[in-house]
Amino acid sequence: MTNTTPVEDRIIGAIQTAIGKRDEFVPLHKPTFEGSEWEYVKECIDTEWVSSVGSYVDRFEEDLADYTGAKRAVVVVNGTSALHVCLRLAGVEAGDEVLVPALTFVATANAVTYQGATPHFVDSEERTLGLDPEKLGDYLDDIAEVRGGTCINTQTERPIKAVVPMHAYGHPVDLDPLQEVCDQYHLTLVEDAAESLGSFYRGTHTGTIGRLGALSFNGNKTITTGGGGAILTNDEDLADEAKHLTTVAKKDHEWEYFHDRTGYNYRLPNLNAALGCAQLEELPSFLDQKRTLAERYRDAFADVDGVSFFTEWDGTRSNYWLNVLLLDEEVADRRDAVLEATNETGLMTRPTWQLLSSLQMYKDCPRMDLATAENLERRLINIPSTPSLVDDRWAK
Ligand SMILES: *Cc1c(COP(=O)(O)O)cnc(C)c1O
Repeated sequence: MTNTTPVEDRIIGAIQTAIGKRDEFVPLHKPTFEGSEWEYVKECIDTEWVSSVGSYVDRFEEDLADYTGAKRAVVVVNGTSALHVCLRLAGVEAGDEVLVPALTFVATANAVTYQGATPHFVDSEERTLGLDPEKLGDYLDDIAEVRGGTCINTQTERPIKAVVPMHAYGHPVDLDPLQEVCDQYHLTLVEDAAESLGSFYRGTHTGTIGRLGALSFNGNKTITTGGGGAILTNDEDLADEAKHLTTVAKKDHEWEYFHDRTGYNYRLPNLNAALGCAQLEELPSFLDQKRTLAERYRDAFADVDGVSFFTEWDGTRSNYWLNVLLLDEEVADRRDAVLEATNETGLMTRPTWQLLSSLQMYKDCPRMDLATAENLERRLINIPSTPSLVDDRWAK
């Protein structure tokens, strides 16, 4: 379709080419329960092991470690609490700064704030949709120096302790050059892999490359436990510490209450872990379907003027969690018209997140030039991404 048709109509046409015309409203991402969910959850109820301990918690942790290749996984109540504990284990303390992308879900910065630290916003690159390592390196050359093994922001005199890349919509950040920046500036790499279960960077699962990584199993993510998250690490001591901290720091004892620090009640209940075990068994088929869906979108949008479908970049394998359209600059001012028209047609679409650097509570935080993130914010639209959209049974 050409320029004579409004861009919103061209987009609706292409989405319908990819997924067919649907009578009912098509959400952005709905959960799919087609495996052993019911059986495993029922077993929890039948055996009365619904809460803080139970075999599914252990099994979910083992299955996650197996799938991701992380040495250990520690499951928790949600992705935000996973990130919070990752940052605490990375040594982030009150008065520190942590480098986070401006273009991410609010939880990335909130977790920094929970530690009493300040988010310091970093620009993105259009090639990956994630944090721009080269631009960050140049920026740190200007504003930071390493003193006594600690990176100091010379403008605020605060320590910068960690950097938290986020694999946006499942597309991996370019981690090798970022690791080099981390090595040079003594920063701990903590991955926000909340959106990227099933995504790989140069053959390695996202969330396992940094010192720590966080996953989310919220209802809209690739697999869900209702609510849930996990901490990934290859360091056994950190994993033990993560488990301890997230289970109210209670020492093992049959009946005594011994707690050796202020821990958190962040344990994932057995009920949710049961759901997680069943969902993880289905992950390979979800990923296949999501890949097929992305290919259909790619083909359907190939000849559509004014907009492009975002595909995984070389060296990465994306889970295509939420499919991404980028409007051309010339039609970026039609973004809201596209959002209105698609949602009115029954095709759910959403804009990307408002840059965190512009939110009320973060508007005074330090930041670098955010030109690319600002540009992506105006042009990025998510389109329906439920795996079973490739499936004719979906309509029933
Ligand atoms: C979903 C998400 C989280 C938080 O996960 P919850 O399980 O909802 O707490 C964190 N970061 C990003 C980027 C997310 O998309």
